[in-house]
Amino acid sequence: MGIRLYRLSSFVYQRSGLSSMIKTRAIVLHRFPYSDSSWIVKALTEESGIVSFIVKGGKKKESPFRGALDPLTLSEVVFRQNPNSDLQFIKEATLLDWHKDLRNDLLNLAKAQVMTEMILRYAPQGVPLQEEFARLEEALSEFDKVCGSPATSASAPITATSANSLSTNSATASNTPNAEQNVSSSAALPTFPHATYKSNIFAQWLLDTCDMWGYNLDLETCSRCGRTLEKPAADFFPETGGFICEHCLGVDTPRAKAETLNGLWALHRGQQIEHPEFTENALLAYLRHHIGFLKEIHSIKFLNETRKLFGK
Ligand SMILES: [Zn+2]
Repeated sequence: MGIRLYRLSSFVYQRSGLSSMIKTRAIVLHRFPYSDSSWIVKALTEESGIVSFIVKGGKKKESPFRGALDPLTLSEVVFRQNPNSDLQFIKEATLLDWHKDLRNDLLNLAKAQVMTEMILRYAPQGVPLQEEFARLEEALSEFDKVCGSPATSASAPITATSANSLSTNSATASNTPNAEQNVSSSAALPTFPHATYKSNIFAQWLLDTCDMWGYNLDLETCSRCGRTLEKPAADFFPETGGFICEHCLGVDTPRAKAETLNGLWALHRGQQIEHPEFTENALLAYLRHHIGFLKEIHSIKFLNETRKLFGK
């Protein structure tokens, strides 16, 4: 477990009239063609929440943005924020982390795509999302790290803050004139528990997302009798988020599978989840009941197809 330093890398360095120039780190959530040569890129920025960019000429080989605006990429972008427009013109994009190793791991790539699609569809629009940014950045970095070390078995814990993000942070800081002033203002940002195991990363992100969006799950209290659970709950109800103890379950047959209950308990205790797909599906079902999931999350289909490929 390491202490993460969150830092505001963005700053407004020019204000003129209605629009202002913004420099911020951004994670690309989605990209689609706009014309023969241009992209529209939707990114989660550290400073301004979700922003839609038009990237003129972005598809061309000689585009200066090449690679920096690929989905799942962490980049530093400069753009002029026009409050009267839904589409912002991007001026600069500097690649910070392409997450190369994550891209070579189909199953975890599918999980990362569900994460970005959920943020795109369900995170509040038009507001800063610094917690969401920090948590997504961390999860992608953890994925990339474990996917890139074949020697790291699924059971080996991830060590503290990756060297990758440390060097990225310091490199960015040295390029950022206002870094010193910004350090103190970021001290109040929350820190998150690290997913210690590869199989926990997506589930931990889902659990944190429940917290961030106001659907906190109480994994250690029986929702019927109020007793503190000393071992995995006897049942879980995604409709309410309630866990119940074995006394309250009595002779009833639990609806939740043992894999689900053991996985949620392991997640809560910071232990390795044996069958993460059960835990992930339980948390997705809980979120679906609370957020509504009115719009379909397309990448969940891809995740399920990928799980079949890997026998999960
Ligand atoms: Zn009980």
